[in-house]
Amino acid sequence: MDYKNFIGGAWAATAESIPNINPSDTTDTIGFAAKGTVSDLDKAIDAAHEAAPGWATSTPQQRFDVLDFIGTEILAREEELGRLLSREEGKTLPEGIGEAARAGQIFKFFAGEALRQSGDHLASVRPGIEVDVTRSPVGVVGLITPWNFPIAIPAWKLAPAICFGNAVVLKPAELVPASAHALVEIVSRAGLPDGVVNLVFGRGSELGPRMIDNEKVNAISFTGSVPTGRGIAAACGAKLKKVQLEMGGKNPMVILDDADLDVAVETCLNGAFFSTGQRCTASSRLIVTEKIHDQFVATLYDRMVALKVGHALEAGIQMGPVVDNRQLEQNLSYVDIASSEGGKVLGGQRLDLATKGFFMAPALVTETSNDMRINREEVFGPVASVVRVKDYDEALAVANDTEFGLSAGICTTSLKHAHHFKRNSQAGMVMVNLPTAGVDYHVPFGGTKGSSFGSREQGRYAAEFYTTVKTAYTLP
Ligand code: ADP
Repeated sequence: MDYKNFIGGAWAATAESIPNINPSDTTDTIGFAAKGTVSDLDKAIDAAHEAAPGWATSTPQQRFDVLDFIGTEILAREEELGRLLSREEGKTLPEGIGEAARAGQIFKFFAGEALRQSGDHLASVRPGIEVDVTRSPVGVVGLITPWNFPIAIPAWKLAPAICFGNAVVLKPAELVPASAHALVEIVSRAGLPDGVVNLVFGRGSELGPRMIDNEKVNAISFTGSVPTGRGIAAACGAKLKKVQLEMGGKNPMVILDDADLDVAVETCLNGAFFSTGQRCTASSRLIVTEKIHDQFVATLYDRMVALKVGHALEAGIQMGPVVDNRQLEQNLSYVDIASSEGGKVLGGQRLDLATKGFFMAPALVTETSNDMRINREEVFGPVASVVRVKDYDEALAVANDTEFGLSAGICTTSLKHAHHFKRNSQAGMVMVNLPTAGVDYHVPFGGTKGSSFGSREQGRYAAEFYTTVKTAYTLP
């Protein structure tokens, strides 16, 4: 299968291509993605620029129909799309199907949202004058997406962009072109005018800077790593270009003595290791109070080693491979770093299984302190560390002692502590007796500090980024 670029309503091949390899079985080449050049990207931006004014004046009904069509087809094909996603990214099949379904639901949400747009009509403070406050599209939006949610993240950027009347150029991650291609193939049949949605595959380091440099791009929505995000923010700042960034996390999960042990263990097992820990909301710092510590660690360890690691598409597998060799090396090096800093590592070794893939055993690092690198830097793999603390106050202080602020959780049966934690956690998303990962699609997603920059994604808050507010005064 060849995944071509989609520019101005037409599929376009490129001279060079990038192979799409199955991380569960590196002998399985899924397809070849176009390797777009800067000139291809410029053409896509030109197409979006030309299409933007027309789509900006589309009616709520047109927007609803397009978004509803896309959502309906994704949901009808969730099994097939989920399988493709799991094959190229490595999350288990149930996770892949769940993600595909999520993408469909996001389009359905924004279909409804297109009909719900409203503004304010106010009396002026001056006599006889009326004031209208309305939202206009931003124009051309560049969407840069990562590999860990190959269909859901493109969906949660594309859907609001279309809903609020923008034109876009999507640049998906190099490792997962098939899901983005399948999504845009559906979009291409949804009744949008040519040029409203464009897709360009290629190297982020080459195309990303051009996306920001090109004067016809009005805004950038990016999800990816902190260093890349920082560079994008700086470049957008110099251009005064609107920007929205979602980056990493080092998400704390506090376990208090009064927690229900089963809930705590289940929550951490899911939060730390599901999706191979490759979620920016993964629970990677488990902060556990003294009395429950040993029992919690022993039970979590037993459950962790029982996790079935293997080919993502095999029935019964609970943890798929790491996405590629570079990420696997990074995970293993963090396991070594944690050990050399004095942490006690359980699991975390490379695995040789029936198929040649990027497999590793999940890792639990105990006896760590919050100043160790394993607790300061994002690993982005199935590696969780445990910090032992005295009481709730120390747990909260440790939870907040981080440069990140995406998601934070607490397991407790104390209403007082749950309530206090919700109020005083510095993270953008707070979970009580739930994993730090796993969020709804109809409410805002995002963090504080080094995790996020700009306005929130998802839910009706997405309007902040994809529109510009206009205030009009009339003297009738
Ligand atoms: P990861 O380590 O998770 O791959 P990256 O930040 O490198 O995170 O990648 C996220 C997205 O950003 C991908 O689509 C990638 O191609 C793109 N990207 C990489 N480098 C740049 C850059 N310099 N400017 C803009 N986008 C980039």
